[in-house]
Amino acid sequence: MAKGSSPVDSAPADFSRAALLERLERETFDIAVIGGGITGAGIARDAALRGLTVALVEKGDFASGTSGRSSRLIHGGLRYLRQGQMRLVREALRERGLLLRLAPHLVRPAPIVLPLYADSHHRPLRLRFGLVGYDLLAGGLGIGRHHGLSPERTLQGEPQLRAEGLQVGFRYFDAVTDDARLTLTVALSAMRLGAVAVNYVEAVGLEETGGHIASVHYRDLIGGGQGTVRARAVVSAAGPWTDQVRSLAGASSLLRPTKGIHLVVPRARLAINAVVAFGWGGRDLFAMPHGQHSYVGTTDTDYADDPGAAEADHEDVAYVLEAANGTFATGLSMSDVVATWAGVRPLLREEGAPSSVPRDYEILDGPPGLYTICGGKLTTFRSMAEHLLDYVIERDGTRFPRRPARCRTARVPLPGGAVADFRRYEKEAVAALRDGWQIPEEAAARLVAAYGTEHVRVLSHAVREPDLLQPLAPGCPVLAAEVVHAARQEMAVTLEDFLRRRSDLMLFGQDGGRALRDEAARLMARSLGWSRQETRRQLAAYREAVARMTAFRSRAETSAAEAGA
Ligand SMILES: Cc1cc2nc3c(=O)[nH]c(=O)nc-3n(C[C@H](O)[C@H](O)[C@H](O)COP(=O)(O)OP(=O)(O)OC[C@H]3O[C@@H](n4cnc5c(N)ncnc54)[C@H](O)[C@@H]3O)c2cc1C
Repeated sequence: MAKGSSPVDSAPADFSRAALLERLERETFDIAVIGGGITGAGIARDAALRGLTVALVEKGDFASGTSGRSSRLIHGGLRYLRQGQMRLVREALRERGLLLRLAPHLVRPAPIVLPLYADSHHRPLRLRFGLVGYDLLAGGLGIGRHHGLSPERTLQGEPQLRAEGLQVGFRYFDAVTDDARLTLTVALSAMRLGAVAVNYVEAVGLEETGGHIASVHYRDLIGGGQGTVRARAVVSAAGPWTDQVRSLAGASSLLRPTKGIHLVVPRARLAINAVVAFGWGGRDLFAMPHGQHSYVGTTDTDYADDPGAAEADHEDVAYVLEAANGTFATGLSMSDVVATWAGVRPLLREEGAPSSVPRDYEILDGPPGLYTICGGKLTTFRSMAEHLLDYVIERDGTRFPRRPARCRTARVPLPGGAVADFRRYEKEAVAALRDGWQIPEEAAARLVAAYGTEHVRVLSHAVREPDLLQPLAPGCPVLAAEVVHAARQEMAVTLEDFLRRRSDLMLFGQDGGRALRDEAARLMARSLGWSRQETRRQLAAYREAVARMTAFRSRAETSAAEAGA
């Protein structure tokens, strides 16, 4: 079924955990990366494509940090234009255009509707100039030009928008993605190119040899073992954990992290047809349609606790609901919220209110042998990796036994995306899966959207077991074969790895995937050899994660009970 090929589309390497850990210990790498979010995964892939040897350790799952908790936009960032950050916007728009071509299955153009009310912090004329600039800066990599909408046409497209005070609307274009899948695809691509990337391995120490950091001590959080990665250069791509990793080398702290949350409601309660960008209290928020659900975000508040423990609390949810209810005439309440997620922005420390902190990235050198990259955006991961590696090669390139090639990531498609006309391919593939394999249309569409041309690898698990072609539960768009594929080929180690990041059923499934979690656990247990006790433990851990996601309600219920008493 797949047309075209690229170096990344070759047969997968041995991704068995034992084999990867053995290589981590045995080999000396050109580069060791700490952190398996989009930044670290992007660096590992770029380095592997340049012919460097790479190790990557990730203390949780790939994308378990900020990269799996974003707004899922691949965008230039219209509001950064308002802040005069032309360079940042131009770079992000170029990256958006490249990703639309290199990963057309995972990054899709999306029309965005922007209603402007009388009390908005945006001025219509300035916004129009901004949108003209946005179109121009995208140049040949643009998606489409913006246009203005009368209040009537704005409401025709989005009937749930409030009519009173609506002055004008705009329609422009950006792109949306599945952030966790994008990150995972980049990491898996790096591995196919020879990188050794392992999840659930935590860097716990950095060691110098001859005045140069040359070893990363690690702990295997699954098997309990420990070991050392030897490398010629070490890169910290630890997102909001940057200061903790730098402290392992006695380096200074850099970050002023902020938290942003999203909440998910049934589509029937927030029936939007396109992404809606709206202003509230001087801030910009987005409401995005996603299958049977819509999600809304985000907030921007200082956050000083453990980034891994960030959750949406009662105030966060109340704020987003207030903003949504001020813009849409739908009367959302806490009880409509079926899921939430919270991410921590790895922003560089600057004085001022949180939302005025610029989203840019920094590359820091030192102590010798350690390079730190932090800040940036999901959208700009490719160019961040390119700049970081150019810098490392310039400073430390003589340490590498071979001269690295130039960056190739702007040309080599991501796995699943090497098709000239992806939309046509997608149409034909979905029809073939529906008519030839009897796969329900929604599941077929998801399969091709998530894996692109690689969906045939998922189907291959069903050749001997046709039952795997069934959805995980009636009406669910995810096939049983995807669980087996995730465990065998995508390094899913826990039930949450599958239900939250290989699929997003935890966030967008019915009741956090209640109807299908047992079946998913059964299939993972079979693939990974879990005992009954381990399967029960995985299910309990998953239920706890779902409960944390909706814990904001207990505060709401307590307040309601107190008010009623
Ligand atoms: C609410 C919100 C919305 C956003 N929306 C968008 C958007 O729509 N579009 C966009 O372009 N950008 C968006 N961003 C920004 C974007 O998500 C981040 O810039 C990006 O994901 C950061 O990626 P990262 O790899 O640097 O960090 P992370 O994804 O956090 O990765 C760092 C990784 O390092 C690992 N790690 C930490 N310490 C260790 C250790 N000792 N050993 C091993 N591993 C370790 C962590 O487990 C983590 O997985 C958003 C951010 C937030 C918070």
